Amino acid sequence: MGGMPTASQLPPGRSKSTPVSAGRAAVSEADAIGASRGFPLRPLQVTWEMTRPGGGKAATARPAKSASREANHFSTAEAFHLIEDVAAMHVPLLALTGGDPLTRPDLFPIIEFASGHSVRTALTLLPTPNLEPGIIAELKACGLMRVGFWLHGSTPALHDSYWGISGLHRRTLDAIGTCHEVQLPVQVNTIVSRRNVQDLDSMIELLTRLDVVLWNVVFFVPTSRDEAGTMLSADEHEDAFARLYQASRHVHFQIKTTEGQHYQRYLLQQRVRESRGRLTEAEAITCAPKGLSDGKGLVFINYRGEASPSRFLPLSGGDVTRQSLADVYCESPLFVSLRDSSRLKGKCGRCPARNVCGGSRARAYVMTGDLFASDPCCAFEP
Ligand code: SF4
Repeated sequence: MGGMPTASQLPPGRSKSTPVSAGRAAVSEADAIGASRGFPLRPLQVTWEMTRPGGGKAATARPAKSASREANHFSTAEAFHLIEDVAAMHVPLLALTGGDPLTRPDLFPIIEFASGHSVRTALTLLPTPNLEPGIIAELKACGLMRVGFWLHGSTPALHDSYWGISGLHRRTLDAIGTCHEVQLPVQVNTIVSRRNVQDLDSMIELLTRLDVVLWNVVFFVPTSRDEAGTMLSADEHEDAFARLYQASRHVHFQIKTTEGQHYQRYLLQQRVRESRGRLTEAEAITCAPKGLSDGKGLVFINYRGEASPSRFLPLSGGDVTRQSLADVYCESPLFVSLRDSSRLKGKCGRCPARNVCGGSRARAYVMTGDLFASDPCCAFEP
C-alpha cells in the first residue's frame, strides 16, 4: 500500500471552530458529567455505515468510480476527520459497515489511516463479487483487526431467504475460511427474530465449527409497528437469553447482544441464583459494570454523517461532517438525555437494573413513539 494518507483540508461545511483538539476539551468536560452519572465517559464503539445500505442489491453492486460526495455522502477527507475524532476520544473500536464497504475505492486508505492513528477497526463485509481473492489479506495488511459477516441462519434456506439471494450462505462460509487462512479473527452478526429464533442452537453449533471469536446477536427492532409481529415477545426474549447463557458457559467465542440490553439483567439474575444466597440482587447490581446501550457508549453514524445513538433509532444527534464527534456525543440533547436514567418511564424507570440495562430505547421509540418508555419486550417486573 502507499504512504500514510493525510487529512489535507477541512471538508466543506465542517465548522473550523470545532477542530479535533476542541474535541479533547469537550471530552474532559463530559467526563465529569459522565462520571457523576456513572455512564461511559466516551463512546466505547463508534459504528460508521460507510456506504448506503442496499439490502440484497448490495450483493451485486460494483465499486463506485470515486468516493464522491454524491456516491457516498462522505468524502475521503471527511472520513479522515472522523477517524481523527475517534482517535482524539480514545474510542476503543471503530466498526465499519455498509451497504457494501468494498464499493468504496478509498476503503484501504481509510483503514490504513485509522491504523496509523492507533484506531482499531473491524469491518463487516458482504460476500459480493467485490470480495475478490486477496482482498482479505490486503485488508489485514492495512491494519484491520477483525472481519464481520452477517449470518442469519445455520442453513442456506434461512440465510439466503433473508437476503433473497441464493448462494450467499455458501459464499459467507467460504469467506470465513479465507479469513482463517490469513489469521484474521472473524465476528458473526445475526439478527434474531421470529423467523429464525428456533435456529439458535444450530447457529451455536455452526459458529463453534467456524471458529469465530465473537457472536453479535442482534435482537430485531421493527422499523414500524407493522413489523411488530416479527419481533420476539418478552417471553421469547427470555427463552433466547437462556439459550445464549447456556452456550456462553461452554463455547470458546464471546457472545454479545445488540438491542438486547435486558440480557445484562438476565445475567445478573443468574449470578444471584448461582451464588446460593451469598450475593443479593442489590449487591450484584452494584458490582455490575454500567451497561452499554443506545447513546451510552455507542454511536452509529450513517452514510450521510448523521450520528444516532443506535442504528435502529431514527433520531440524529448531529452531523459529524459538520461537528466534531465529541460535540455530538457529549453535548447534543439527544445523547445527553439518553445517559440520564432518571428520564426512564414505566417499569424501566423503577427498575433496579436500569443503569445496567435501561431497555432498548430504539424498540421503545418505534413501538410507542416515546424515547423513554419501557422496553415493550422485557418480561421482568421490578
Ligand atoms: S424493566 Fe427495563 S430496565 Fe428493567 S430489565 Fe426490563 S428492560 Fe431493563
